Amino acid sequence: KISIFWFRRDLRLHDNAGLYHALKKGVPVLPIFIFDKNILDKLDDKHDRRVAFIHEAITEIQAFLTAKGSTILVKYGTPEEVFPVLLDEYDVDTIYINHDYELYAHERDESVREFVTSEGVGFSTYKDQVVFEKNEILSGAGTPYTVFTPYSRKWKEKVNTFYLKSYPTEKYFDNFLQTKPFEIPTLAMMGFQAAKAKFPSKQVRDGIIRSYAENRDFPAIEGTSKLSVHLRFGTVSIRELARKAQSLSETWLNELIWRDFYFNILYHFPHISQGQAFRKEYDKIIWRNNKKEFELWCEGKTGYPIVDAGMRELNATGFMHNRVRMIVASFLTKHLLIDWRWGEAYFAKKLLDFDFAANNGGWQWASGSGCDAAPYFRVFNPSLQTQKFDKQLEYIKKWVPELNTFDYPAPIVNHDFARKRVLPVYQMALKGF
Ligand code: FAD
Repeated sequence: KISIFWFRRDLRLHDNAGLYHALKKGVPVLPIFIFDKNILDKLDDKHDRRVAFIHEAITEIQAFLTAKGSTILVKYGTPEEVFPVLLDEYDVDTIYINHDYELYAHERDESVREFVTSEGVGFSTYKDQVVFEKNEILSGAGTPYTVFTPYSRKWKEKVNTFYLKSYPTEKYFDNFLQTKPFEIPTLAMMGFQAAKAKFPSKQVRDGIIRSYAENRDFPAIEGTSKLSVHLRFGTVSIRELARKAQSLSETWLNELIWRDFYFNILYHFPHISQGQAFRKEYDKIIWRNNKKEFELWCEGKTGYPIVDAGMRELNATGFMHNRVRMIVASFLTKHLLIDWRWGEAYFAKKLLDFDFAANNGGWQWASGSGCDAAPYFRVFNPSLQTQKFDKQLEYIKKWVPELNTFDYPAPIVNHDFARKRVLPVYQMALKGF
C-alpha cells in the first residue's frame, strides 16, 4: 500500500501540515501534483508566469526527492480524470491534502473526497495555509468577525507557540515512496512558456521587516517583503513568517493577519465568490462602465501619473505596490465609476500573487462595498497621494518616463468633477438602507 500527498497551493516539503501527517503514518508516500486543465484552459495568456512559477517550484521539489531516492508524480489533466487512474495503478491507503478555501477548490476537493471514499480509500485534510481558519476566531457571540481590528485582537490573544510550531516533516523523509523519478511534463507540452524574468526571492531581509512600519507606504522604496507570490503558492510557511513577524514588526504581523482575515471572510460569506458585493446594497450602484476608459486604465494611460505608473508596473512585472493598488482601485471605481468587478478580474489575470480572498477583499475595500471597507465618500486624491508617498516622483518616473512631455496624455477626467459625480451615484444606491 501507498499513501498519496496531493500538492496544490502548498508547494514546499518543509513545515507542511498535510505532508507531515502523511509521512508520519509510515505508509510510503507518493507526492503528486496535477496541472489542472480546468484552471489552465481558462488562462488566455500562454506566457502566464504563474504557471512557470509553479513549474519551477515543482522542479525544485523533484530535485530534492530524486536525491532521496523518491519522486513527485506530476500529471497534466483534471482531478476527475487523474484519481480513477491513480487508484487503478496503486493500492492506495489514504490521500492527504491541505485545506483550500476557494470556491472551485472546495467543490473539487469534495468531489474527489466523494469518489475516493466510495472506493474505500481514506481522505485526510489539514489546515496549513493560514494560522486560524473556519470557526477558530469568532466573536463572543459566536459569530464571524467582519471588522478587522477586533478580529486581529482576538487573533493575537489566541495565538501561541502551539499554533505557530513548524511541522517537522524532515524527521520522516525516509518515508517517501522509493522509486525511479517520473518525468515532469514540460511547460511547452502544456502550451505555456518559461518565465524570462526572475521571481521575487523567498528570503526576506530582517532589515526590511524591521523598518516595515516606516517604509511600507512608499512605492519607490524596497520597503515590503515581496513574499506575496510565495504565500500564494505556499513556497513559504505562514507559521515561520508569523514567528518572524512577532519578533520583528507588529505592523507586518498585522498584514499577515489581514491575509487570514480575508480567508475567514471567504469561508463565512460565500456570496462574495458569486460576484456579489459583501454589502448587498452596493450592488444597486449604477456604474458608468465606459469600455474605452477601462482600456486606458488597464494600459496606464489615464493621465494621472501615479495611476498610470501602477498599472504599467502591474503589466510589466505582475506586481504592484499595495499603496498603489489602493490608489488605482479607488480611481477605477470612484473617478471612472467602473464596476469594481472589472478591476478585480483584470488584477486576477495579471497579478503574480493573485489570490481570490485578498484580491476580492482589496477591491471591495476600495469600492466601499466590502466588510470593514473605506467609507464610500472617501475618494483618494491621486495628486495628494503622490505628494505624500512619491514626493520626488521616483516611482512615477520609473514607469512613466514620458511624464512632462507632449507624449503624456491629459487627465481622462477632472478630479473635482469626478468627485462630485460619484457621491450622488453612491447615495442613490444606498438610499433606504
Ligand atoms: P507585505 O507588505 O510585505 O505583506 C506581507 C504579506 O501579507 C503579503 O505578502 C500578503 O500575503 C499579506 N498581505 C499584506 N497586505 C494584505 C492585504 N491587504 N490583504 C491580504 N493580505 C495582505 N494580496 C495578495 O496576496 N493577492 C492579491 O490578489 C491581492 N490583491 C489586492 C487587490 C487590491 C485592490 C488591494 C488594495 C490589495 C491587494 N492585495 C493582494 C494585498 C496587498 O496589496 C499585497 O498582499 C501586497 O502588496 C503584497 O506585497 P508584499 O508581499 O511585499 O506584502
